[in-house]
Amino acid sequence: MAQEDVFKKIVSHCKEYGFVFPSSDIYDGLGAVYDYGQNGVELKNNIKQYWWQSMVLLHENIVGIDAAIFMHPTVWKASGHVDAFNDPLIDNRDSKKRYRADVLIEDQLAKIEEKINKEVAKAQKRFGDAFDEAQFRATNGRVLEHQAKFDALHERYSKAMNDMDLAELKQIILDEEIVCPISGTRNWTDVRQFNLMFKTEMGSTADGASTVYLRPETAQGIFVNYLNVQKTGRMKIPFGIAQIGKAFRNEIVARQFIFRMREFEQMEMQFFVKPGTELDWFTQWKQHRRAWHEALGFGSENYRYHDHEKLAHYANAATDIEFKMPFGFKEVEGIHSRTNFDLSQHAKYSGRKIEYFDPETNESYTPYVIETSIGVDRMFLSVMCHSYQEEKLEGGETRVVLKLPAALAPVKLAVLPLVKKDGLPEKAHEIMNDLKFHFNCKYEEKDSIGKRYRRQDAIGTPYCITVDHDTLTDNCVTLRDRDTMEQTRVPISELRALIEDKVSITSLLKKLQ
Ligand code: ATP
Repeated sequence: MAQEDVFKKIVSHCKEYGFVFPSSDIYDGLGAVYDYGQNGVELKNNIKQYWWQSMVLLHENIVGIDAAIFMHPTVWKASGHVDAFNDPLIDNRDSKKRYRADVLIEDQLAKIEEKINKEVAKAQKRFGDAFDEAQFRATNGRVLEHQAKFDALHERYSKAMNDMDLAELKQIILDEEIVCPISGTRNWTDVRQFNLMFKTEMGSTADGASTVYLRPETAQGIFVNYLNVQKTGRMKIPFGIAQIGKAFRNEIVARQFIFRMREFEQMEMQFFVKPGTELDWFTQWKQHRRAWHEALGFGSENYRYHDHEKLAHYANAATDIEFKMPFGFKEVEGIHSRTNFDLSQHAKYSGRKIEYFDPETNESYTPYVIETSIGVDRMFLSVMCHSYQEEKLEGGETRVVLKLPAALAPVKLAVLPLVKKDGLPEKAHEIMNDLKFHFNCKYEEKDSIGKRYRRQDAIGTPYCITVDHDTLTDNCVTLRDRDTMEQTRVPISELRALIEDKVSITSLLKKLQ
């Protein structure tokens, strides 16, 4: 099945099974805004818990905060967002559609890369085991031609972005003969800068009201609380502050479902270190964060680092952790060495001294910062994309199963009485009432057992138990495993011990030690 079709299926599965709904669905939705349904919210909370506990419980020197979404407007002046949190936009006059100029050029680069990959795949098929890919890439005429084109375009594009040369970005679009996918024409406007922050008014009277922004990242809430937390928590450098919260960006082109939203959630951690040690910490956090992703068991081949060539003016190193989505490798998390830029800027704009006094060396300095920043929604999407599977069963039937890591699954155990009579529902409820304190259980009595299993497979429930007539006398139930579909008879008294360890966030956290 084409990857595009797989993605469409995942999007509709998310809606059909209560994971993600378009916002204000009865009014036909709102662009790039989504709501999480009854199963989505559980999965999302489990992802957040896994992140939070890996930061705050596993590190003695990391604490959490929860800052407000509204912040003093000067925060965004100091951070550079008012002046520079822009994307270059371009309109097509015929379709009246708006695009990000950088994305149009990056798509063009991806098309050239695709051509190279096709040549390689063709040759691989032809030569079989004897195929030497490196040699083929270095010598094949067509590949070299495409590669030269790619390199030239890439260099021109990187320079234009580094200089934020808007005229040059437009010229590249014209020279590359990039057309609007809707109208098919090259009738482009000039490229303009577009600020991504949402503005609103705070205060009741027009005179007294001031413009405030919906925060475009949670990080600034941490920076402005650096002194508060360091002093009241008696924190010694190196230490970190973690936060989970909503962020808002007026994205020009919102695509790919919850990959790019206008309202989304971030999990960010700012780690404050001594100047000069930041690149060592950067390397450590790069590894730590990748290990966090890989502990979910999705296979290391599905992740890669993408080091930034174009660094923000305040950063001295930056990398993305990318995950293989159905639409290619995409950024899920950014790890940035932000120097002392943010704290220095806030010191300058607020007039406060924002420093750390090192009792060992008797010196004061402005700490340097390593940031790890991951989008909850993108993480959710990567989990969904990897877990969604259509399996052919022996009888020729197919089943749709979400092979979610058990610790993230919304429901851990479904309790199913074989029939709705003979005391079986009562027995099932008795089991539920005992286990519900330990993990999320769901009771279901409608339809055949087979249908009920399929429904649980579709929401990724790792275990189901069936309560039958024998249960009333032998106090055993049939435990069915989602992935293997194997069924075993187990005593009710052993259920908790059998299941709890496998479905707890602790089981994931232990893999990180
Ligand atoms: P992109 O280049 O994809 O726009 P970014 O580099 O601007 O992302 P950061 O500012 O580094 O993103 O934000 C950190 C993380 O927040 C990203 O890795 C991503 O997971 C998440 N994120 C950023 N923008 C969005 C969005 N519009 N919708 C959902 N998640 C987002």
